[in-house]
Amino acid sequence: MKITKTKQSRINDVDFSNLVFGTQFSDHMLIAEYSNGSWSEPEIKPYGPLSFTPAMHTLHYGQAIFEGQKAYYMEDGKIGIFRPEANAKRLNHSARRMFMPELPEDLFMEGIQALVDLDRQWVPKAENHSLYLRPFMFGSSEFVAARPSEKYIFCIICSPVGPYYSGDVKVKVEETFTRSASGGVGSTKCAGNYGGAFFATDQARKEGYTQVIWTDHANHELVEESGTMNVAFIIDDTFITPPLSDRILAGITRDSILTLLRDRGIVKVEERPVKVEEVVNAAKEGRLQEAFGMGTAAVISPITSIGFRGTDYAIATPQDGYAMRIKKELTDLRSGAAEDPYGWML
Ligand code: PMP
Repeated sequence: MKITKTKQSRINDVDFSNLVFGTQFSDHMLIAEYSNGSWSEPEIKPYGPLSFTPAMHTLHYGQAIFEGQKAYYMEDGKIGIFRPEANAKRLNHSARRMFMPELPEDLFMEGIQALVDLDRQWVPKAENHSLYLRPFMFGSSEFVAARPSEKYIFCIICSPVGPYYSGDVKVKVEETFTRSASGGVGSTKCAGNYGGAFFATDQARKEGYTQVIWTDHANHELVEESGTMNVAFIIDDTFITPPLSDRILAGITRDSILTLLRDRGIVKVEERPVKVEEVVNAAKEGRLQEAFGMGTAAVISPITSIGFRGTDYAIATPQDGYAMRIKKELTDLRSGAAEDPYGWML
């Protein structure tokens, strides 16, 4: 792999005690290019602008996919990347559905390790901080015609991030707009899924909510996801989360949490369709113990109220509840404070 190091690190310009998510980038980036049916040798070079023409394919036709994952500073002074193979596989799932070339998994794995190793000073040491890694791929051919791009660029950039604090999370059950539909691209991390969601989220914000609970496209009866996180509820004494489908992103945090809950017998787990009605009734009857989003950014983001047809139902966020317990189990595994029986930290 060709590595060109920066002549002048920018690390001293960064205030690590005041990081705003995704706004500062480490010294280097990785780039690989696809043309004539194969991927080039990846190259690591100083982070900086890419150049392209106005006819670049992705600007018009949206063959663009990405991943989000983190590298952590561990207790023994090593740096660990959490489940990178899972991200490599999910990127290729997105690539297949978006009719883009798959990326060889070893290119992804070797590339991400070499990049994080080179920029290891950028992995924040403070508790709950990490280096957010953003691999992405887009069609880079120069033509405007509605057919797939012939050339692609794969790139990884890194951004040091602090603890995620969202304050009160008031969600609104969304019954007008839809994030994804059966047969669509909801299970991929394609850029358009996010662009298509901003309007509905902004409408909810104007009504005083933080985020929407996406429901199914057909009848808006089933709970699907919470914003850009998978969602779970503790109803009575059971952890309930909607099953994966082609409308839902297969979150790596969700999978990790389900694995821990089942293996450690922490709580009874049900992966099954969840009706909005069931959640609202449980809230009315005082049986909705907790509700939370699960994702890389926050790990677990407790939901403090659910709005449905104009009524807001408050939800407890107990410090000794399941959300906090799960968060601690995962945080300990990632920091090295607890054993990692699954080999999740690379
Ligand atoms: N759903 C959506 C739509 C997302 O964008 C994300 C964030 N990648 C998730 C769920 C959570 O996935 P993960 O745990 O892999 O971050």
